[in-house]
Amino acid sequence: CAAAVLMMRHRMKSSGRWAKAEAILRELEENCGTPTAKLRQVADAMTVEMHAGLASEGGSKLKMLISYVDSLPTGDEKGVFYSLDLGGTNFRVLRVQLSGKEKCVVKKESKEFSIPAHLMVGSSHELFDFIAAALANFVATEGEDFVLPPGRQRELGFTFSFPVRQLSLASGTLIKWTKGFLIEDTIGQDIVAELTKAMERVGLDMHVTALVNDTVGTLAGGRYNNPDVIAAVILGTGTNAAYVERANAIPKWHGPLPKSGDMVINMEWGNFRSSHLPLTEYDKSLDAESLNPGEQIFEKIISGMYLAEVVRLVLCRLAEEASFFGDDIPTKLRIPFILRTPDMAAMHHDNSADLKVVGSKLKDTLEIPNSSLKMRKMIVEICDIVATRGARLSAAGILGILKKLGRDTVKEGEKQMSVIVLDGALFEHYSEFRNCLKNTLKELLREEVSESVNIELSKDGSGIGAALIAASHSQYLETEES
Ligand code: BGC
Ligand code: MG
Repeated sequence: CAAAVLMMRHRMKSSGRWAKAEAILRELEENCGTPTAKLRQVADAMTVEMHAGLASEGGSKLKMLISYVDSLPTGDEKGVFYSLDLGGTNFRVLRVQLSGKEKCVVKKESKEFSIPAHLMVGSSHELFDFIAAALANFVATEGEDFVLPPGRQRELGFTFSFPVRQLSLASGTLIKWTKGFLIEDTIGQDIVAELTKAMERVGLDMHVTALVNDTVGTLAGGRYNNPDVIAAVILGTGTNAAYVERANAIPKWHGPLPKSGDMVINMEWGNFRSSHLPLTEYDKSLDAESLNPGEQIFEKIISGMYLAEVVRLVLCRLAEEASFFGDDIPTKLRIPFILRTPDMAAMHHDNSADLKVVGSKLKDTLEIPNSSLKMRKMIVEICDIVATRGARLSAAGILGILKKLGRDTVKEGEKQMSVIVLDGALFEHYSEFRNCLKNTLKELLREEVSESVNIELSKDGSGIGAALIAASHSQYLETEES
């Protein structure tokens, strides 16, 4: 009889836990909700902020940075060019041989390095020395099949994926770091000058011809392959978008009107913020604990660096308030960023009957050896709620751009395609996220418009794009043409 009472108590306690867990989940779902009407408000707010950011410097949270890229590659570019891509967890060096007429990249070689964590928060000098040394090693492996005319200095397009106030195509000062980077002494410095000095220190003779954001590089790479490309979006460690604007629609641009009439704008949409964004207590604590509190709010609910961290924070609350993992809180669960978005995607994509991938992720990354099917199901649901919010908001951001360009409606008799190229590991590898984004955009656009808007994956468009921009602005171009 006593045993029965104990058993009964245990059952009640356990059903109380589940009820609490269930309540936490429902609250999360409610607070992360993105009904269509809300997404339309977000898109409208995005359009409004775009106008404000173009009107004056500092006019909006959206910096709408002028890229100085006023002509996109045409396919006539020729020669050997390098690019360097710094901005996420890895950095990449690339060399391409372009052969004008045939409009193609004849040859391409690249190498990827991971950036040691201490360099992301160390000194400017150290970071740029590391990059320059890696670049010099890569240049040293240039084979004879890459033909650089004698007497020519090698040229580089530098993809630097942080907000930069450009002073010209090949110079610009760092506004702030984002993602996992924080190196105080680089802020306000000219990034090209920093790299050039470091290259000199390692004895590498190379000219930085263009400094571009990854969105701008991706846009250039996309346009090279398809003239209908109007915008590029990155969904990776961070998130951002760039698009082609008419120069005379940029009141804050006081320079000469470019021949093309166009100017590529780096929106820095990661810093977008609006009262319409569905923010939760988890987002607030993530932001407060971050390297950049109050900044990059859109990025913190969308991008790969943060999605799994939101999931971890929900799991922490479940552990604390609903004893979700038993009486003790798993020690590992308390470590920020221990759960990564690729882990989250793997759990979300698990379609085995017993959710064994979820079980093994819990075991391997969080050292939670035993999990019931019920727990695993709830965890998949959390991943789904968090990823869905991010994907739907990304689609709303894209709608905002289409609206700004008047491409969210079709005009009578006009058949104009709008292609948006997307890059980044989140979009490429997290298929639930990608599919949700695509479906949401369809849902937001009217049917007749939906057919003229395409989303395309651009694999490593930013590296090639930067090399192409360097090529189309080569220091040797004029002497060659004359
Ligand atoms: C940066 C952007 C960049 C984006 C994607 C953001 O954190 O501010 O400049 O384009 O990440 O890499
Ligand atoms: Mg990148």
